Amino acid sequence: MSTTAIQTKHNFSAGPAILPKEVFAEAAQACLNFNNTGLSLLEMSHRGADFVAVMDEALALVREILSLPDNYQVLFVGGGASSQFFNVPMNLLNDGETAAYVNTGTWASNAIKEAQAYGKIEVVASSESDQFRHVPKGYPIPADARYLHLTSNNTIYGTQLFDWPETNVPIVCDMSSDIFSRPVPIERFGMIYAGAQKNMGPAGVTLVIVREDMLGKVNRHIPTMLDYRTHIKKGSMYNTPPVFPIYVSMLTMRWVKAQGGLDAMEARNFAKAQALYTEIDANPLFHGTTATEDRSWMNATFVLSDDSLNDAFLADCKAAGIVGLKGHRSVGGFRASMYNALELGSVHALVEVMQTFARKHG
Ligand SMILES: *Cc1c(COP(=O)(O)O)cnc(C)c1O
Repeated sequence: MSTTAIQTKHNFSAGPAILPKEVFAEAAQACLNFNNTGLSLLEMSHRGADFVAVMDEALALVREILSLPDNYQVLFVGGGASSQFFNVPMNLLNDGETAAYVNTGTWASNAIKEAQAYGKIEVVASSESDQFRHVPKGYPIPADARYLHLTSNNTIYGTQLFDWPETNVPIVCDMSSDIFSRPVPIERFGMIYAGAQKNMGPAGVTLVIVREDMLGKVNRHIPTMLDYRTHIKKGSMYNTPPVFPIYVSMLTMRWVKAQGGLDAMEARNFAKAQALYTEIDANPLFHGTTATEDRSWMNATFVLSDDSLNDAFLADCKAAGIVGLKGHRSVGGFRASMYNALELGSVHALVEVMQTFARKHG
């Protein structure tokens, strides 16, 4: 199967998002005939040896790529990152106990709203008053907090955390849009979760990583399917797991590893972000929308100084094969998402359109 037949665009979509070409090709083949079994991956038992091997490799790759210590458990669950907004406090926080949250955007706000049903939620910092253009720093964290909830990359507003707060309180982090994009100091985290569809795989599965001592401390009833311990005990096979999203995530992790792991991803993502932000700063027609020091390497948000030119710019992008640039409906402007799989060449293509556009309209 030719890979050029399936991908011909520079895809800057925020999610579901670009994955490596070779992953799409191998996933397509697995849908037709998996491992020469004469069966599609989609029609075989999740308890059979072929899929069990996929699950085992997927779990092992998460451990290996993130260098997880033994006291961390890895699980794949359904419901999207949005279900973790209630699942986290349900599993980690008793009524009356405190959890600290930092509000850095829409997803963080959703997490705060859901958590309020389970304990005392203290919003210790927020950048809402400047439309989430920066990431708050240096805020106090209550020593008795069970955890500090952070969003490592704010997909909609285009900010990212580059410094993890100094605290003994375990960090619980929504890494949906920058998982596997750079190394992280794993010992600081009590829990990490990520919907697959930004940087890891297709929509339909959520990765959860949890330190064992975080669990077993609440006394409320937790429905079996929502109790992390259920899925840990059963190796994410308590019920039928989302087999295809897990398989494609596994292929993507193989790719991350083959590229050189998180150090290589960081270098690759830094080069892309550098190329685009350099152009945004140099080009008189375009402006970045976030604080310079908090600019996301994953989602670059920017506007035209004259927004009557927006449609003309998008048309030029489209003509150059560049898609997915329209900003989130809640903020407008443009957003270039540059997840792991996006090639530097795609950023160069975008920069070239911006330069030509400035010559035409400047
Ligand atoms: C996309 C996104 C979500 C929502 O993920 P779903 O899987 O659609 O629920 C949550 N948090 C962040 C940071 C995101 O980028």
